[in-house]
Amino acid sequence: MPERLGSEKVTEEYPRFIVPGFAPFDPMDLIKRTERIVCSGNQRKYTNFYATGVYGGIATGYTVGCCFRCIFCWVGLGREYLEKHGKFYSPEEAFDQLSQVARKSGTAKLRISGAEPTLGKEHLLGLLSLVEESMFKLFILETNGVYFGIDDNYVKQVSKFKKVHVRVSLKAGTPEDFTRKTGAKPEAFEIPFSAIRNLIKYGARFHVAAMSADPRIMSPAERAALLMKLHGVDPGLVKGLEEEIVDPYETTLLRLEKAGHQLKWPLTQLC
Ligand code: SF4
Repeated sequence: MPERLGSEKVTEEYPRFIVPGFAPFDPMDLIKRTERIVCSGNQRKYTNFYATGVYGGIATGYTVGCCFRCIFCWVGLGREYLEKHGKFYSPEEAFDQLSQVARKSGTAKLRISGAEPTLGKEHLLGLLSLVEESMFKLFILETNGVYFGIDDNYVKQVSKFKKVHVRVSLKAGTPEDFTRKTGAKPEAFEIPFSAIRNLIKYGARFHVAAMSADPRIMSPAERAALLMKLHGVDPGLVKGLEEEIVDPYETTLLRLEKAGHQLKWPLTQLC
């Protein structure tokens, strides 16, 4: 398939890696800038379609483009160099690729990974409509919550799809830690919590995850602040919280190093 380019060229100021002394960015602005690179009409860039063992086996479409720059992020360097990675696929083309992978690997579960899947609203809603009408049973939508926090109607539309389960991944427990870890301005800290409120409001199937089981990334005090904040939204969220640790992917190590962090592995030696 010939590559069809998005409308924006990547300029010097486009945020790539977080480095010491970086200027915090507005993630809503970065959504728009990134969409102009990785989306074209209802198409979105993907680099690959494959099956993986997570979630007990799932067909995965690997995309590029995010509105955060998490220092512990594991995805490929398509996050930073999105103009160089991927080809554009329509919702029908992406669904076709996912279907082929799912059939070959014998799974009825699908997802998008490698990036923030909510970028390219028209593409995602088109893809989810196809999933809803299909024989597949589940689409796991892993999001950082920015788009769902600022666009109430987007959440309303996604919540109508009964096969969609949303996983909101929180990055920090305080505004300062949020900026240090994601690169986004501290005022945006509240946005993912607004996403959670929107998901509750529209009765969506969802749960919350956080990198809160890793003291190298989240101190006990920050974890306590996060749990308290979640409790304030809904006490049940704390009980259902999926707590993660950082894995030493090559890209994770590179991003941590660029940000001036040196973590030691394995984590068990530190606990
Ligand atoms: S960890 Fe997720 S939210 Fe953070 S930069 Fe990577 S893809 Fe984006």
